[in-house]
Amino acid sequence: MEKKCFKCKKKIILKYVLSKKGYSLKNNWDYWTENPKHENKFICNSCLLDLYYNDKGKYLEEVKNNKKRRIFTAYVYNKTIS
Ligand SMILES: [Zn+2]
Repeated sequence: MEKKCFKCKKKIILKYVLSKKGYSLKNNWDYWTENPKHENKFICNSCLLDLYYNDKGKYLEEVKNNKKRRIFTAYVYNKTIS
């Protein structure tokens, strides 16, 4: 499935995850923010990393759920987001 990053407008290919019987959620902005206003907003890996490394304040403001922050950090370190 193809989506566009809401920040840089680059194309994002969402991967179908067999074990989850659904598309990977890591590029869904509302998955991270849990903000209904961000429903159907997609963000590419490089914009996610840019936020994480270069705009920590914004990242912490947007990604409030501690469990999601732990998942995010794990994805950065295991290169799921790369
Ligand atoms: Zn982007």
